[in-house]
Amino acid sequence: MIIKRDIDIIKGYFEDYSGLLGGYADRVIVPEDEKEIMEILLEASAKNTPVTISGGGTGVTGARIPFGGWVIATENLNKIIDINEKNFTATLQPGVRLSDLDTQLSKKGLTYLPDPTEPNAFLGGTISTNASGAKGFKYGPTRNYIKRLRMLLATGDIIDIKRGDYFLKKGGLFPIKLKDREIKIRIPDYSMPQIKTAAGYYVKDGMDLVDLFIGHEGTLGFILEAEIALGRKPEEIMSFFSFFASEDDAINFVDDAKKFNAMSLEYMDSHSLSLLRVKYPNIPLSAKGLIYFEQDYKKESESSLIDSWTKLLEKHNALLEDSYFADSDKERVKLKELRHALPDSVNEIVKKNKMPKVGTDIAVPDNRFKEMLDFYHDKLKSSNIYYVIFGHIGESHMHVNMLPKTEEEFKKSRDTYAEFVKKAISLGGTVSAEHGIGKLKHRFLEIMYGKDNLKQMALLKKSLDPSCILGLDNIFPKELLR
Ligand SMILES: Cc1cc2nc3c(=O)[nH]c(=O)nc-3n(C[C@H](O)[C@H](O)[C@H](O)COP(=O)(O)OP(=O)(O)OC[C@H]3O[C@@H](n4cnc5c(N)ncnc54)[C@H](O)[C@@H]3O)c2cc1C
Repeated sequence: MIIKRDIDIIKGYFEDYSGLLGGYADRVIVPEDEKEIMEILLEASAKNTPVTISGGGTGVTGARIPFGGWVIATENLNKIIDINEKNFTATLQPGVRLSDLDTQLSKKGLTYLPDPTEPNAFLGGTISTNASGAKGFKYGPTRNYIKRLRMLLATGDIIDIKRGDYFLKKGGLFPIKLKDREIKIRIPDYSMPQIKTAAGYYVKDGMDLVDLFIGHEGTLGFILEAEIALGRKPEEIMSFFSFFASEDDAINFVDDAKKFNAMSLEYMDSHSLSLLRVKYPNIPLSAKGLIYFEQDYKKESESSLIDSWTKLLEKHNALLEDSYFADSDKERVKLKELRHALPDSVNEIVKKNKMPKVGTDIAVPDNRFKEMLDFYHDKLKSSNIYYVIFGHIGESHMHVNMLPKTEEEFKKSRDTYAEFVKKAISLGGTVSAEHGIGKLKHRFLEIMYGKDNLKQMALLKKSLDPSCILGLDNIFPKELLR
């Protein structure tokens, strides 16, 4: 194993994309195998030293940022152990980068269907946050594709959990057999909203044990290995960038488009388009909203599909002449660049402002989406804070990014965020649909589930990590562990 202590070398591990500052650790340890990780965790448990596990560092909630103790970096645990073309599965170490996985799968005509998130993220990080991607509308989150997890607990115990082997009931006390003893874990009894959510531990009646370790944000154990489900690479994909002269037209289009079984249905508001026009001046000035959607299809249905989509776009007054269409990989890359230019432009503003962005990750039930969007507009207009709204409109899941310029605006943005959370919860929504809670959203998770349920989460963590060393301050405040 490599142990790094030089601050100039290790300071990169004290950051992610959240803008959370002040992280520090005594050392960063880069293990090569299971035995080394076990040694590190046993020593840390014996000394009560906090341990933060680091993936690709693309998280946006500060979850991999340490505040003391040791970091275990997973970049050398990057083996694709097996790709089983017959069973459509792959077995991987947690440090495999998603872009590397995609390259290897593509060679075999396969794909990891949820295509979660940013290509530089590691598999372990995406499991730990239950990440989703642009194709979430059709394929759902990471959770749906995890068949087996090999977990190392902070106590040095290994549990190999195959989906379908062990089921739990919420509110109950459950025995888990370890090599030389049995431990009991109590599953909290809150109810998760019946929509896309990544807020707090997964809790459901009759849930599979494997689901507890998906979305745990590095708090319950170390993911040593995962078996994932794969799909066949789509034969053909068509992508549309369709501009609309009004937000209402764009939203009404989405309501109809949901019946078309697209892979993705994504939105950018007029503020996002204004920001993008700096780099892409061809974006029509009359455009007030953009819907980006992709559909997989077979060659023989191409012309009928294009025809149906065109009719639907016409029905909802899309600016067809100015919209973009891609049906080849080369053209799609250009559209992807345009799409990724938005987070890049946002990050440039954040750097210029020297003030973190305040980004939401709220989803609500489909039938309450319009009400939530109107609420965003009302509050944001009166706040005078610069913002953009974009995201996964097909799943009624928007990211509002507020970009404060001063401390005062930052505080106002956080307060506005709390108002959004309260509204979303009143509509049956979630405070986090895909990013997780990390170190930045305890307050919002408490609004969602209440303090008693946060305490239940802390108790659950303690039963698996009795020395309380792993992922401290992720999901709930570490003070609840006392
Ligand atoms: C431009 C951009 C776009 C993004 N788009 C999306 C999106 O569309 N959807 C989405 O869901 N997210 C998105 N994200 C957020 C981010 O990519 C995801 O949260 C991702 O899952 C983080 O993975 P990572 O490997 O970078 O993890 P890190 O940030 O390094 O860590 C995240 C968490 O995983 C834990 N962890 C890592 N490895 C292990 C392990 N082996 N065992 C246990 N715990 C572990 C860490 O301790 C931490 O709690 C985006 C981020 C950026 C910068």
